[in-house]
Amino acid sequence: MSDDPLTYGPAGTSSWTDLIPTPKQSKDPSLDPSPSRRGFVGLRCPKCGEKDVTFSIGLSNVGLIECDDCNEEFTPESAVAEWREQADLWRSVVDFVGRAPVLEEQV
Ligand SMILES: [Zn+2]
Repeated sequence: MSDDPLTYGPAGTSSWTDLIPTPKQSKDPSLDPSPSRRGFVGLRCPKCGEKDVTFSIGLSNVGLIECDDCNEEFTPESAVAEWREQADLWRSVVDFVGRAPVLEEQV
């Protein structure tokens, strides 16, 4: 027996995954999960600011998104408006800082 906990079992089995029966093919190929995942990574909630939380979209109203972290609801359009407003505010800070006098280094 190997020291590797993932490789054990009767002779002829090379790994624990060999002990798991292979699932039968579904009769309806459309029910099989797609081999490639699709999604959006790195989104930040416009309400609580958390990143990579789970967002829920209801099938009865796909335009409304709920953050599973803060339970606040918002539309994707309001999220864009919120971030655009934040970007505009921070751009004003960048402009303000750019107009400030350069200070001499004090030794
Ligand atoms: Zn949130």
